[in-house]
Amino acid sequence: MMRIQRRRALQMLSAAAGFPLAAAAARAWALSSPIKPDAASVLLVVDVQNCFIAGGSLAVPHGEDVVAVINRIAPAFQNVVMTQDWHPAGHASFASSYPGRKPFESIKLSYGEQVLWPDHCVQDTPDAALDKDLNIPQTQLIVRKGFHRNIDSYSAFKEADGKTLTGLEGYLKERGIRRVFVSGLATDFCVAWTALDARASGFETYIIEDACRAIDLKGSLAAAWQKMTQQGVRRIQSTDIA
Ligand SMILES: [Zn+2]
Repeated sequence: MMRIQRRRALQMLSAAAGFPLAAAAARAWALSSPIKPDAASVLLVVDVQNCFIAGGSLAVPHGEDVVAVINRIAPAFQNVVMTQDWHPAGHASFASSYPGRKPFESIKLSYGEQVLWPDHCVQDTPDAALDKDLNIPQTQLIVRKGFHRNIDSYSAFKEADGKTLTGLEGYLKERGIRRVFVSGLATDFCVAWTALDARASGFETYIIEDACRAIDLKGSLAAAWQKMTQQGVRRIQSTDIA
């Protein structure tokens, strides 16, 4: 009741001030925190692997900082799914696969633009292992992605060709999951693509911002947030979770 009154008061205030209704709605929604994950909610832990943290082959700045945050919120979730970037040697996303090309350049592949990365997360190497400090015993599924030699896969749902599916959507829907909370690495690549695909598949989608860290390559972080906001991905903090 209190929340409804606050929301209504806020909408009236916003209307009086001439704010767009969408902004008022977003603000009202923010006030309705904290969020209590239920049986239809899942925490997705994206690519918290040695390769993406300090000392790894493609370390995300401060990537290791997400581990403590994720460990803290995980007990609130009955359902947890992790992903693992899992490339064969000579993968299409590796700069080393193209003579004369360097990491962080882009090239055009059959499915579109591809950023070239240092060799990373090669299957069954210590670099590809999940961070040993993750402490989430109730994790139910680990989705490995990026294992097709000629296709990258930032998203946990759909590979970079936009067609090849990982099976995660079917798994979550068969289990009655309706809400997806995304954490992990990196905000502007695998986390963002996962969140956008979750939205496109009809899930209510949240990004837990402080449970993620970004690479931010040529403005990629701002671009990712803009796209996610446009598509209705909700941006929350770990403290918003009850
Ligand atoms: Zn990769």
